[in-house]
Amino acid sequence: MCIFCKIVAGEIPSNKVLENDEFIAFHDINPVAPVHILIIPKKHVENFQSVTPELMANMTSFIQDVAKELCLDKNGYRLVTNNGKDGGQEVPHLHFHLLGGAKLKWTHLTENDTHKSL
Ligand code: AMP
Repeated sequence: MCIFCKIVAGEIPSNKVLENDEFIAFHDINPVAPVHILIIPKKHVENFQSVTPELMANMTSFIQDVAKELCLDKNGYRLVTNNGKDGGQEVPHLHFHLLGGAKLKWTHLTENDTHKSL
């Protein structure tokens, strides 16, 4: 069982923000912004590449509700999902990072500064 499935099952504690039948939002244990929430489906889906449009449609509404709950909808936020090895995904259970609470920086994401062509 993956670590986020254990959170869903209540075997590992989490600091929950919002929950419904399909999704849970909880605080990241290692925040990189003043507000750093993880939003996951209760059903185990490995990552964004394997999510269905139907699940994603409901997840979109839930993410919007979480942003409203935390009053991030007015000033804005960043939504990130790390997908697979090159994306830097550490936990193999689909999750979106909802980041906000301050004006966020944007930076180069690799050591090589030249990304004009892939
Ligand atoms: P990623 O690198 O996109 O897979 O992100 C995984 C995130 O999960 C990291 O930001 C971790 O800090 C976070 N994380 C890992 N274990 C827990 C946990 N038990 N509770 C809350 N956040 C966690």
